[in-house]
Amino acid sequence: LFAGETEFVKGVVAMSGLPEPDRLEVCFAGRSNVGKSSLINALTGRKGLARASNTPGRTQEINYFTAGEALYLVDLPGYGYANAPVPVVEKWQRLLKQFLSGRQTLRRAFVLIDARHGVKKVDEEILSLLDSSAVTFQAVLTKADKVKEAERQKVLDQVREALARHPAAYPEIIVTSSEKGWGIPTLRATI
Ligand code: GDP
Repeated sequence: LFAGETEFVKGVVAMSGLPEPDRLEVCFAGRSNVGKSSLINALTGRKGLARASNTPGRTQEINYFTAGEALYLVDLPGYGYANAPVPVVEKWQRLLKQFLSGRQTLRRAFVLIDARHGVKKVDEEILSLLDSSAVTFQAVLTKADKVKEAERQKVLDQVREALARHPAAYPEIIVTSSEKGWGIPTLRATI
């Protein structure tokens, strides 16, 4: 779908910096280190496109990528940093709230969940924010290669249970491994 057509557009730190809403977009959210950069790179077939989100200074930016002419992929800042200063977290939460409730061309959020950990408290905050912003979201399990089948099923059950409490959740969960390429065609087709 987007091979060879994906380019970095810009990093945005305030609503005023967003690109013109002249096409649809989907966004990616997840705890820091959940594998978001790896997934976006696997999805677009471009290694190094989404920087390791741990790069200092870029962690608070909403990063825009084109996917062909008709779509933007939006990489939201990772959340749940252990040592993030309170003002930084608050600034990020404000921007995220404004973005999710105010971006008319946003069609879906993909919330990345580590296949080893399931839905955590920090994830719940985002899921509730998506509910109240009326943004349909879909859970994507990451790093599925790191768990055995039985464990994966257990985590899937936990995620399903969590999603059932959120009206904005789309029920189907996409299981992925960026390392092995699992689920990438499914995610691409879904987008
Ligand atoms: P981000 O902070 O969410 O952007 O996470 P990264 O994409 O930087 O990944 C965090 C760490 O998890 C890195 O060490 C990656 O190599 C590793 N990782 C990411 N995706 C996978 C995966 O599908 N399988 C495995 N085994 N490791 C992964």
